[in-house]
Amino acid sequence: MAGKKGCPDTRDFAGANSGRRSVMTFKSSTDKLLRTLLGFKNLLVTGHELLPRKGVLWLAVKPYKNGACCPHCGRRGKIIKRSRKQVARASRTWRDLPAGGVATAITYSPREITCETHGRVQEDIPWAAKHSRTTLRFDFQMMRLCKVMTQKEAAAQLGVPASTLAEMLHRCVGRYREGHKVRGLKKLGIDEISYKRGHRYLTIVYDLDRSHVVWVGEGKGRKTIDRFFNEVMSAGQRARVEAACCDMSRTYIGAIEDHLPKALLVLDRFHVIKALNESVDEVRKEVWRAASKAERKGLKGLRFIILKNKKNRTRREHKVMAELTHTQRQVARACELKDELSHFWTYSNPSNAEKFLKAWKKRVKLSRIGPLKKFARTLEAHWDGVMASWTGITNAVAEGLNRVIRMAKNRASGYLSTDNFANMIYLIAGDLDLPGQIEAINRPRIIKPLHHQTLCR
Ligand SMILES: [Zn+2]
Repeated sequence: MAGKKGCPDTRDFAGANSGRRSVMTFKSSTDKLLRTLLGFKNLLVTGHELLPRKGVLWLAVKPYKNGACCPHCGRRGKIIKRSRKQVARASRTWRDLPAGGVATAITYSPREITCETHGRVQEDIPWAAKHSRTTLRFDFQMMRLCKVMTQKEAAAQLGVPASTLAEMLHRCVGRYREGHKVRGLKKLGIDEISYKRGHRYLTIVYDLDRSHVVWVGEGKGRKTIDRFFNEVMSAGQRARVEAACCDMSRTYIGAIEDHLPKALLVLDRFHVIKALNESVDEVRKEVWRAASKAERKGLKGLRFIILKNKKNRTRREHKVMAELTHTQRQVARACELKDELSHFWTYSNPSNAEKFLKAWKKRVKLSRIGPLKKFARTLEAHWDGVMASWTGITNAVAEGLNRVIRMAKNRASGYLSTDNFANMIYLIAGDLDLPGQIEAINRPRIIKPLHHQTLCR
């Protein structure tokens, strides 16, 4: 059994190695058995009461070894004597992990102590966070389960009403994120994610070097992103940012230019391509609107082929594109220009890349295709940002994280409030190693995978 030297459970289970079979030979009291079975390492079980009908196991406990310590400095204090009434009044209950199909609650009446430095204080509770009504082991398990399954399923596993779990998780993540600061942010990415069927937005700030989310804010406007730069980052931190990556939206570009004047503004490569794709699609739509019924037949299913990368098109799709040059010249030309632009990121030196981009822009202007010309104007307006995308800094990390976040969003489906969604993002993609905050002694015991042969003696 895992346990420190001198810990009662090591002694009691020594018999298991000497080949004794019967459980009866163990000289363990029920309370010791309970303690070992439930894997408590920092508390002793002093009494228990099982109500199978109600599905509750109550355990009276007391701190093991670490009792009567000051919560501020950790030193032992002098215990203040209390009457029976006072003991009963101070009694508290914490929810622990369910054991054997019943909900487990532990009760203890924390004592008051006098600390030499901090005066009269309530002793530190080693198994739970301050003001928490759940044990640290419970918090750990809850966060672990919520990372990989729906909250409804996690609630069922933990024996908590589904409606309560969201609130518990919210409080738990909030507690571990308290006083959290952004550290060493050098390359940041900004993007938005929609939820509530595209009616609401969250702005997300990523650390592109370390691939995690550093901040989540409600809304996608300038006010939201301003809050991040003003409230979360200090002036010194802002000055140390080397590069910032975003899409072609005016809001984020404006915010980066204002708050991070020294940083390199990078327009994300994938967002540039996305904007270009949208304008090519606009050309197709224009043609579609003007086309007769017979002509529309030939235009069906084109969108998918046009937006595809040139090298990914099948032989049949290439044939369709070749036919298009005879029937719909404008669409074909727009598509050609779109395919050409991908060369921009393949150059080995920036001045050649810039030359290429200038020539490409000229060709677009000569093409007399409205939507593409509009794109070229946007390109001109953000020329430096697009050129910077050549440095290889992209929001690809953010895209990857967004995929994980979207998966979590789909899992949460029903009762997803803004706060809950933000917590979910911090939990699965944030920079805080939440379970890492809980000491090993307060984590649930890991079940060892054993083969059946090992179980047979
Ligand atoms: Zn103290």
